[in-house]
This record gives sequence, structure tokens and C-alpha cells, in this order.
Amino acid sequence: MHTDDDPGLPCVHCGLCLDTCPTYRVLGTEADSPRGRIYIMQGIKRGELALGSAAVSHLDGCLGCLACETACPSGVSYGERIEEFRPRVRAAIRRKPWRRLVGYVASNDRMFTLGLGVAATMDRFGLHSLRRRIRGLDIFPRAPRTRRDGALAEMPPRERSRIAPPAESKLDVALLTGCVGDRLKPEINRAAVEVLHRNDIRVANDQGLGCCGALAMHSGDETAAREDAKRNVRAFTRSGLDRVVTTAAGCGAMIKDYGRLLRDDPELAEEARAMSDRTVDVTELLVEMGFDAPDLSRSSRQAPGKVVYHDACHLLHAAGVEAEPRSVIEAASGAPPIDLGENNVCCGSAGSYNLDHPKMGLALGARKAQLVAEKDAQVVAVGNVGCILQLERALAMAGHDARVLHPVELLAAAYERDTD
Ligand code: SF4
Ligand code: SF4
Repeated sequence: MHTDDDPGLPCVHCGLCLDTCPTYRVLGTEADSPRGRIYIMQGIKRGELALGSAAVSHLDGCLGCLACETACPSGVSYGERIEEFRPRVRAAIRRKPWRRLVGYVASNDRMFTLGLGVAATMDRFGLHSLRRRIRGLDIFPRAPRTRRDGALAEMPPRERSRIAPPAESKLDVALLTGCVGDRLKPEINRAAVEVLHRNDIRVANDQGLGCCGALAMHSGDETAAREDAKRNVRAFTRSGLDRVVTTAAGCGAMIKDYGRLLRDDPELAEEARAMSDRTVDVTELLVEMGFDAPDLSRSSRQAPGKVVYHDACHLLHAAGVEAEPRSVIEAASGAPPIDLGENNVCCGSAGSYNLDHPKMGLALGARKAQLVAEKDAQVVAVGNVGCILQLERALAMAGHDARVLHPVELLAAAYERDTD
């Protein structure tokens, strides 16, 4: 099988993408590498291969992290190719009971709340380690700890936003709060609102923006994803706001794709493109607007300790946002963050991937926990709630006490120390 006769596929088989592919790193099999998956997709398109259980398994195993696109010197658009296959792959997978159950719980408010309640109760009774080993309950975050210890006590979960909107704003923005992430880690969006307000960027309330559509897209339901996109494009256009700001890299990447997703929509194509262009990660906007650096010398309270940074795939590979989170962390902690290591390799979160593929999710998470231990870090900063949950779980399972925080949480905490 070869790819050379496909003019749209400039793959030269060099294999430079292999080392960045998380599934290839764990399994070491060509069929679980980007190059292997490209061959499989090409074979199916040409009718040389069937989309049987083996092909489904190799394609479904892809995290969609896009590290292979970043590594590829020939500009192979792997992401578009795998997305084209997702609906067919997901249709085959949906027949599996565990996958159906995961989808049901994630999309059902009552089941989700029940799961969260069970996890919190187990944590309160000291069963946190056991709970982290129970499939399905493992992904819920730890209930806030009451023990205050050293530097970590400086960053308790934020109960509410403590900074009022600016009287005069430089920019008015919508904050896309996200669905599951906001329910599990609402303190991230509260910190985002605080740091934006502190920098005279007003966050408007309830613009009618809802789910970005990534959940539907990842489950192979492009029709539902398009409906989510249309609702959001209409709401944002109506609002007249300057930007859409996200704290979840996965949601940001999805909105940045609205222009492509709705390119043939006669009514909304132009507005969708405009919304994509005006969607930014919160750290991008802070840097663009020249955010105030907190005066760290004024604080009598401890800084957060040694901070390492891990790049969320959707920030690094999908959006190319690399320097801005690091600038925010440097301003908040007084030193440039140290890279966690293997920053271009996915942590195993990838939306609901770690629920759908628990073994691979655990293996990738365990490697990150090992890197955190090697770096002896007190804080791991990462700009995506899914990665935060995944790393928290991996660290808990490895018995490591490091906190996992979004860069804006670090900045909000530094502003707070600054005003003591
Ligand atoms: S998107 Fe990620 S998991 Fe999928 S083939 Fe590329 S590097 Fe591997
Ligand atoms: S890096 Fe690009 S050109 Fe090389 S094997 Fe991977 S997809 Fe093909």
C-alpha cells in the first residue's frame, strides 16, 4: 500500500511523526502510529481494506492530539483526515455497552451529579485512593482539602469572583465557560473573570453561548456539533462583543474551527469565520492587552513553589499558543516555568478519551506523574481543564501531592498576594 498516488496527501513516509504520537510510544505498533493510521484510512478509501474491528480499533485509538501535524515536515493534514472517519468509527464503537454508558453519564445532568456526589462522599470518608481506582469515579476531582500546608495553602479553590467588573472597559468579552469542565472546576472560570476584570476587560454575563459542540463532534455526531456551532455564532453575533475568551483549550479549538465547519452555510458562513477569528485563549488575550504584572515583592505570603508547565495539545498543536501561558505563569510566580518534559506528548485526557480508553489514559497519565516526580514540582500548570483532571488523577494514583492549576489561577492568586 502506498500514499504517493494521492495528490492531497504529501506524506513521504519519513516517520518523524512517530515519536510524538502517544499511542505509538506506548504500543510501539505501526498501525497505532500516525503513518499507520494514514495507510489504514487510505486503504479503506480505495477499497483495499475493510473498516473491520481491527481498523476501527486502530483509528479509534487516536487521541486527536495533533502532535503528528506539528511534527510533520510535509504538512500532512492528519486532523482533517481522521475527523472525516470519526462518524463511521464512532458508529461501530457505540455498540459497546461501556461506551454507551460513558456517553449517557456525561450528557445526563442527574447521573453526572450523582457520580460527583458519590466521589465527594468517598473522599470525605478518606477513600480517595480507592475511589481513584474505580472506573468512572476516578475522573472526578478531589473534594477541596481542608488541610492547609505551606505554599499550597496560598491557593485555596476560589469560591466566588472577588473583583468587580471595571467601570470603564478596554474590551468587552464573552467567556465560554464550557460544560463538564465548569461543573468540575468552576474555580478556573472565576479566576479568569477576576484577572480579566483586574485588567479592565469586562466579561459580559450570559450571552446565550452554550456547549461549543466538541462533545458531539468527538462522539462522531457532526450534525449536532453544527447545531451547537450555529447557536453560538448567532448568540455571539447578536451580542456585539469584541471577543470570545476560553479557558478550556478543547473548546477554543472547536470554536476556531467554526469557520470551516459552517463554511457552506448560506446564512452563517461569514459570521462563523468572524467568530473563529475573534476567539482567543485567556492567556493570549492577557498578553495581547499587556496585562498588569503583579508586584511580587510586596507580598508577605509565600509564592506557589516550583512550577512546571505542560502544554495542552489543543493549545500547542491546534492553536499554536505556546509563549502566552508561559508569560502569564512567569508574571505570577516570578520565574519562567520549567517545562514538565515531553511537552509535545498528550497526557491522555483528550476530551473523554481517558474514559473511553482507560488503559491508554492511565499509561499516558502515569508517565506525566513520573515526570512531575522527577522535576520535584509543587505545582503543575496547564491550560485545559481536561488535562488538569487527568493529571490530578495520575498524581493521586502515584501518591504525589503537587497541585494542578490553570495559569489564570496562578495569576489570580498572585494579584491577591499583591493586594494584601
Ligand atoms: S493525533 Fe495524536 S494520537 Fe492521533 S495519530 Fe496523531 S499523534 Fe498519534
Ligand atoms: S511526519 Fe508527515 S510525512 Fe513523515 S511519515 Fe509522518 S505524516 Fe508522513
